[in-house]
Amino acid sequence: MSNTPDNYQDLRQAVSALCSEFNGAYWQAIDEARTYPETFVEALTKAGWMAALIPEEYGGSGLSLTEASVIMEEITKSGGNAGCCHGQMYNMNTLLRHGSLEQKSRYLPKIASGELRLQAMGVTEPTAGTDTSKIKTVAVKKGDHYVVNGQKVWTSRLQHSELMILLARTTPLQEVKKKSEGMSVFLVDKREALGKGLTMRPIRNMVNHETNEVFLDNLEIPAANLIGEEGKGFKYILDGLNAERILIAAECIGDGYWFTEHAVKYAKERVVFDRPIGQNQGVQFPIAEMYMEIEAANLMRYKASALFDAGRHCGAEANMAKHLAAKASWEAANVCLQTHGGFGFAAEYDIERKFRETRLHSVAPVSPNMILSFIGTRVLGMPRSF
Ligand SMILES: Cc1cc2nc3c(=O)[nH]c(=O)nc-3n(C[C@H](O)[C@H](O)[C@H](O)COP(=O)(O)OP(=O)(O)OC[C@H]3O[C@@H](n4cnc5c(N)ncnc54)[C@H](O)[C@@H]3O)c2cc1C
Repeated sequence: MSNTPDNYQDLRQAVSALCSEFNGAYWQAIDEARTYPETFVEALTKAGWMAALIPEEYGGSGLSLTEASVIMEEITKSGGNAGCCHGQMYNMNTLLRHGSLEQKSRYLPKIASGELRLQAMGVTEPTAGTDTSKIKTVAVKKGDHYVVNGQKVWTSRLQHSELMILLARTTPLQEVKKKSEGMSVFLVDKREALGKGLTMRPIRNMVNHETNEVFLDNLEIPAANLIGEEGKGFKYILDGLNAERILIAAECIGDGYWFTEHAVKYAKERVVFDRPIGQNQGVQFPIAEMYMEIEAANLMRYKASALFDAGRHCGAEANMAKHLAAKASWEAANVCLQTHGGFGFAAEYDIERKFRETRLHSVAPVSPNMILSFIGTRVLGMPRSF
């Protein structure tokens, strides 16, 4: 199942050729062992795709977010799980747009060469949840460094990343005019922090997603690692979150095509009551419907990424793209599973793995209620409930 031809056919073919070396059996084995797909991420790095967004002057490929989203889509469309590598794409944006020249020259060439990974982002906390302004992690400036105390949860890929983007409060909530003010973003070098104030504990979860609880206990971060201006971190993170939403939307689109391809193939091949099950409209129509939903969500994904690349506001579109794509891929997962009947539950068919993986996107990085609330209040101007 392929999408409508677009301007990215060369890119698609190159990424898809790499992905074809990592088949369903590879991803199933990784899923079963609950390990990190290191060989895949290495191959992706070697081919330069992990450095897609890094400008050429720093050794990267200088691609747009739209192109980065095509890379993510090709990974999930091939049957892979892009959760192992998308962090570098959206975190990069925070460093690129708001980091100093000194920070960029220090880190970007090493990230581009694969020596370092910037795969982790610590925003979510156990008590604050979606209400980010209530985070309790605090960073206090003392001379040439900040002392950080607090706790994060669901910090993904930290075991396989040297660098982490960290959000902490630098001005107490009671002392700021707007609750989104007074938070700052830091670049944490795990090689210097581990065992010196930073500890992490993996969280076993439904998907094979490498993610952690993180404890920050008097962790010292050099003041030079503050990204942008103190107190403006939430704004920077929001920028990154829009990038993340667009990339995740593209992953869902890729999943959606994968589910469509598998559902169609099985519906044509499986013969029950002396005819292919796909000849029954009760089986065929849901597949046609899910395909339309994916195609429609794909249009919003391209609209959002085009706005992002043009440096224009894209909060509404990024949210809508993520919401529509996650809904479409989840529906596609359900229909694909149903089409396979009992065999959909057999690990060997790989449907149940992709089903679990795509389900995540209806919760992370943001849940549907938050998006509906954003559209209802910020876009449509209805009263806020919180
Ligand atoms: C596998 C995985 C990986 C993740 N990776 C990262 C990561 O790398 N970095 C990171 O910072 N975070 C990460 N997250 C966290 C993720 O972004 C959050 O789980 C998500 O944003 C929801 O926050 P929460 O779990 O605290 O839910 P809560 O905020 O506790 O909300 C629970 C439910 O209640 C709903 N809800 C809450 N308040 C309202 C309201 N006022 N009105 C209507 N509904 C409401 C929510 O929509 C949600 O469905 C990850 C999560 C998972 C599961």
